[in-house]
Amino acid sequence: MHNSTIAQLAEGLRAGRFSSLELTQAFLQRIERLDPGLNCYVTVTAEQALAEARAADARLAAGNAGPLTGIPISQKDIFCTQGVRTSCGSRMLDSFVAPYDATVVERFKQAGAVMLGKLNMDEFAMGSSNETSFYGPVRNPWDTGCVPGGSSGGSAAAVAARLTPGATGTDTGGSIRQPASFCGITGIKPTYGRVSRWGMIAFASSLDQGGPMARTAEDCALMLQVMAGFDERDSTSVDRPVPDYRAALGGSVEGLRIGLPKEFFGEGLDGEIATVLQQAIDELRKLGATVHEISLPNMGLSVPAYYVVAPAECSSNLARYDGVRFGYRCEAPKDLHDLYCRSRGEGFGAEVKRRILIGTYALSAGYYDAYYLKAQKIRRLISEDFRKAFEQVDVIVGPTAPSVAFKFGEKTADPIAMYLSDIYTIAVNLAGLPGMSVPVGFCGRLPVGMQLIGNYFDEARLLNVAHRYQQVTDWQTRAPEGCA
Ligand code: GLN
Repeated sequence: MHNSTIAQLAEGLRAGRFSSLELTQAFLQRIERLDPGLNCYVTVTAEQALAEARAADARLAAGNAGPLTGIPISQKDIFCTQGVRTSCGSRMLDSFVAPYDATVVERFKQAGAVMLGKLNMDEFAMGSSNETSFYGPVRNPWDTGCVPGGSSGGSAAAVAARLTPGATGTDTGGSIRQPASFCGITGIKPTYGRVSRWGMIAFASSLDQGGPMARTAEDCALMLQVMAGFDERDSTSVDRPVPDYRAALGGSVEGLRIGLPKEFFGEGLDGEIATVLQQAIDELRKLGATVHEISLPNMGLSVPAYYVVAPAECSSNLARYDGVRFGYRCEAPKDLHDLYCRSRGEGFGAEVKRRILIGTYALSAGYYDAYYLKAQKIRRLISEDFRKAFEQVDVIVGPTAPSVAFKFGEKTADPIAMYLSDIYTIAVNLAGLPGMSVPVGFCGRLPVGMQLIGNYFDEARLLNVAHRYQQVTDWQTRAPEGCA
């Protein structure tokens, strides 16, 4: 069962080949057996999962089930879950239990999905390797000496190791796409505003967006169908009808115009990755797509602009963790100042502190124009680059990451090297566009992802292109050794 996709499992449940309870038990057993070596889960909600599975079986029997009823799904530990700890990978929230469900969590519940647990992540989603988590790093199931990517590393590794059929992730600068690429799975970051951010702990509010991570594009379509849609509780949620993503998978790729940005294929990209990507692009060509060279001239400014905007927003969002209202509080504070300083000093890890410092500096009087305002102007230029590109092409294709999964510790001493892991993904967040990562091969034993970037609200097209590709290739079916 664990090697089946969500679509196959849904069919099996409907046909009565197995129950949701059996399916849930099978995944819980795998988690018990394999997760100690991988560290994907911060919390496993076994009892709750079994109760939800029983309820799903009743719903299936009554004939009022939806496509995800009875399907186990795991949540990144950034989504608030009523009655279950939401740690956000931080000591600060180690004992935080939200009194409500995030909209995304609520929607999976309404769909009848079964939550297996909460997945490990970089602290407050800041990182590209999962090494900043208070709960220790997640291991990449393809090579346990390597990182799974981040910040949604627990989600990506859990899907790849078959410890869940599908997981949620969030992507502020690449955190769905880069770990999907490192772990050989499929993930999509939707258009900003497509999926509600309500109850999703904020890192950089103008960039954060939740999305699905699963083995196939079809499974991502099924999950996105549940996640997407207007939410009046999130003021940046967009009130626009949600298309039928699965129905869109039947579309043709014939005549699709693919743009290859020359800035994505130059210096800095690993040669072996370039070769693997070329083969994937040839497959799309065989399916009838045409390929065009394009340029996104301001791409080189995306990482520096992001590392002003994201820390600025994080310094403001994380001001709420003051040791008073919720979260970590230091022992025996001398006075209020000491309470603030020590609670934050002890509760946050090094990367989070680094970002708060950078952000506070960039926003301070006298520096605001030089940094924050300038970064916002660059952001506009980057959006313009994409706008012009989408006048010529339908989809932009490139690498998801400049390398395959790297070794633990390889980039921890050099934050800039770590930040460059997102060199191909960050511009998409700055522009608010949808982006996807699809497994397209291997370098040695480590998976390679191809990134697909679409115009605003063009998720259906991205999913369709990925699905067509997955119908003629089988990378998405490969399992890491010991996980099949
Ligand atoms: N790696 C990037 C960062 O550290 C992106 C993280 C994310 O998308 N949440 O900020």
